[in-house]
Amino acid sequence: MKNKTTKTYNFLTKEQILEIYNMPFMDLVYKAAAVHRKYHDPNTVQISTLISIKTGGCPEDCAYCPQAARYHTDIKKNNLMSIEEVRTEAIRAKEEGSSRICMGAAWRNVKDGSEFEKVLEMVRTINKLDMEVCCTLGMITENQAKRLAEAGLYAYNHNLDSSEDYYKNIISTRAYQDRLDTIHNIRKTNITVCSGGIIGMGESAEDRAAMLAVLCQLQPASVPINALVPVEGTPMETQKLVSIWEMVRMISTARIAIPETQVRLSAGRKKMSKEGQALCFLAGANSIFAGDKLLTTPNPDVNEDMEMFKDLGLKPQKPFEKYKQPVTVEAEDSKLKPLGEKPKWSRPGRKRTGKPR
Ligand code: SF4
Repeated sequence: MKNKTTKTYNFLTKEQILEIYNMPFMDLVYKAAAVHRKYHDPNTVQISTLISIKTGGCPEDCAYCPQAARYHTDIKKNNLMSIEEVRTEAIRAKEEGSSRICMGAAWRNVKDGSEFEKVLEMVRTINKLDMEVCCTLGMITENQAKRLAEAGLYAYNHNLDSSEDYYKNIISTRAYQDRLDTIHNIRKTNITVCSGGIIGMGESAEDRAAMLAVLCQLQPASVPINALVPVEGTPMETQKLVSIWEMVRMISTARIAIPETQVRLSAGRKKMSKEGQALCFLAGANSIFAGDKLLTTPNPDVNEDMEMFKDLGLKPQKPFEKYKQPVTVEAEDSKLKPLGEKPKWSRPGRKRTGKPR
């Protein structure tokens, strides 16, 4: 267990990462498994549960996302959940083996006000359950990051999604730099960074390597690797599913490029066989999302996962094995006030309209 520290790393370039990605499959998996064993217990997997605390109606235009208000999808929209509802779900997840709760809200950015105050209270509530708390709320300012840290937030998720070059093909309502700015704000606190991406959106192997090169520089504590789940009504609805071989390649490469990080096998597991997932664990994945839904897309049932863990002899990781549990400061003791700031707005060139409403 440690506090966040500053270390010196050998960052790999995009070219070096691409070379790793293109290695013969057996050599790649063998190398990744060796790196994995050097830095992690290969028989332990961290389990996170994702709770969609506010669903749908998002003003952004991420081409893969059914929660974007502009696309015709059949998701059920929900306003911000109550603290008690979140607490109940967290307790259930803990009983089912999860060590981390990740709360996701379909917001462009965090706005100071009653909803953010409620989220801060959710963070305090879950930290008091002795679970790692993660939030994914969109862009945040430095003051908002500090307030989340003070409430006891353990991790903040903000995915890069893809390479900087490919990013503009999937999102037009914000720029890559906006992502980096939020990650930079998180890094000014003790909150650990969770950042990864999605494969299968039509990007090239070079794009995948370029994204990993940026992540290599950022050294996030966890890196979710998602396989696109094409959802009807989104611009990506006809996209072909990525093969398990591509997924294993991506996980192996992430493991080798960022050896100390927790590599999370995220969206897309529902379509993978248990044998395919076992290959991902062998190649260095050491975290999953549990629960039958990942925000709005299907995920394997908890019982199926537990059966797979039993078959593979995998143990769930205990909370706070990697970093210390943050201390929660109660709202009335807080020295930080809302500043009413808004993250800088950027609207790069391309305009995505999606399907007509
Ligand atoms: S991925 Fe997040 S920011 Fe993008 S549309 Fe979906 S909810 Fe909004």
